[in-house]
Amino acid sequence: MILIASYISLFLFGVLISNFTTTLFYRLPRNIMISGFNQKSTRPPFCSNCNHDLLFYEYLPILSWFSTLGKCNYCHTPINKSYILLEILIGIIAIILYYLIGQNLEYFFLCFCFAALAVLNIFIYLEHNFISTRITLSIIVTGIIYRTLTDQEIFAWLASLSLGCILSLWIIREGVEDKSPYNYDKLLVHLILPASLWCRNESVLLFVTSIVLGYLFSKLIKNKLFYPIGLVNLFLISLYNFMTST
Ligand SMILES: [Zn+2]
Repeated sequence: MILIASYISLFLFGVLISNFTTTLFYRLPRNIMISGFNQKSTRPPFCSNCNHDLLFYEYLPILSWFSTLGKCNYCHTPINKSYILLEILIGIIAIILYYLIGQNLEYFFLCFCFAALAVLNIFIYLEHNFISTRITLSIIVTGIIYRTLTDQEIFAWLASLSLGCILSLWIIREGVEDKSPYNYDKLLVHLILPASLWCRNESVLLFVTSIVLGYLFSKLIKNKLFYPIGLVNLFLISLYNFMTST
């Protein structure tokens, strides 16, 4: 009974966080202020079609789906299904991660942040063909905290991050002439910098293999899958890394 209750509260925790990610999902690609102390430049949740401000039960995670039945209550435009998908997916990720690594709460929170940010970045990328630098930076910052906690020193991650930066600069320089519409050089930088923190030792090899596989698969199926495959793999590798090291 206690177990079920704790999993339900975990799911709710994940859903609450994901509710914030849906705000980012809408606002980041459109450059709308997220929050701040200046109330004049921010605004409460609103319908993206008719701009009508929403009542609290119209933007509560998951519940809003029942109060609106997938359509705006004011202009009746169908609501993008990505919102509810994001909410449910991040809720489920919270439960799975807690089941796997819940005994180490610090790492659970960091890992959950990484997962939520990664899922958000993939959703934004698939819908808008745009990778948010701010989200990638947040993944890097959580990686720095994670490495400082697990290594108990900063020199190891400083070294690998520097290597990642040098590699990224080289890729950007080489990629200037690359005129392919998929911008692999940019995607690679958004994968390599987080990987320099979240992947360690021999798992770097696994990551490189996954990038190559992602590249081949994305050529086979659909070019757009390169970044999602790479990021999901990076997350799984870092999770595996942590679970085998403890
Ligand atoms: Zn509307």
